[in-house]
Amino acid sequence: MAAEGLSRRGETDVAGVSLFNLGTLLNDRSMMVYRRDPGEIVEVPVTGGFIEMCDGEHILFDTGMLPLDLDDGRTVTQARFRGLIARYAPEDDIRARLAAIGRTPEDVRIVINSHLHWDHAGGNRLFSHARFLVQENEHRFACCPDPFIARPYARPYFECGVAYELLRGDTVIKPGVATLATPGHTPGHQSLMVRLPSGRSLIFTGDAMLCPANLDPALPPGNAHRTEDAVASIARLKMLAEFLDGELVICHDPDFWKTWEPAPHRYR
Ligand SMILES: [Zn+2]
Repeated sequence: MAAEGLSRRGETDVAGVSLFNLGTLLNDRSMMVYRRDPGEIVEVPVTGGFIEMCDGEHILFDTGMLPLDLDDGRTVTQARFRGLIARYAPEDDIRARLAAIGRTPEDVRIVINSHLHWDHAGGNRLFSHARFLVQENEHRFACCPDPFIARPYARPYFECGVAYELLRGDTVIKPGVATLATPGHTPGHQSLMVRLPSGRSLIFTGDAMLCPANLDPALPPGNAHRTEDAVASIARLKMLAEFLDGELVICHDPDFWKTWEPAPHRYR
């Protein structure tokens, strides 16, 4: 008999999942894989997931980039931000991506940020009506990051009139949706496990890993706060994907759109 408070085996309240392209970043390749090919530039997508729920409490995993300095009506295609070059077209705006599937920001009732870097929390300010779920140690670290890793935390992007509910470790959010603490990239990084109606599991890695090459535990990303934690988190993601026969949705994988179909496709 299932313990009280635990969801039944195989139960899910997820109706479908859509994947958004929210712009691209130009990265040094050594950021993707520890110390590999420095000086080589790779263009990586910034992606987010819309999780449609049967109860209408739809969930957004990460809000992408929404550069404040691009809010001047220009049709911006490229901007330098915090040491990185971001490419961003009007259709990469999270509002435009939601509109393309017949949704508005108000339809998003829960936002789960993998972490509070500006390219994952950039659109947070559009969802002040929603519940925001982040790990407690991520919120604490974002407010006072170690100086060597502080640049991606841009305070106006995450302190933007939203109230964060602070999670402590792995948490079931709803039947079929659970956060997974995956520290390393940042101290309070989290990934997201989603069980589709078909029974297939998707694991949104966030920045816990940046490309499939990281699945070799000897090849973590090059930009972790703590590399040994990053290696342990990657091993955990790999184990869970194997155990659940699930698939890793790797946010910044340069080949992301060769593997996945963008919205309006709906994974079920
Ligand atoms: Zn990050």
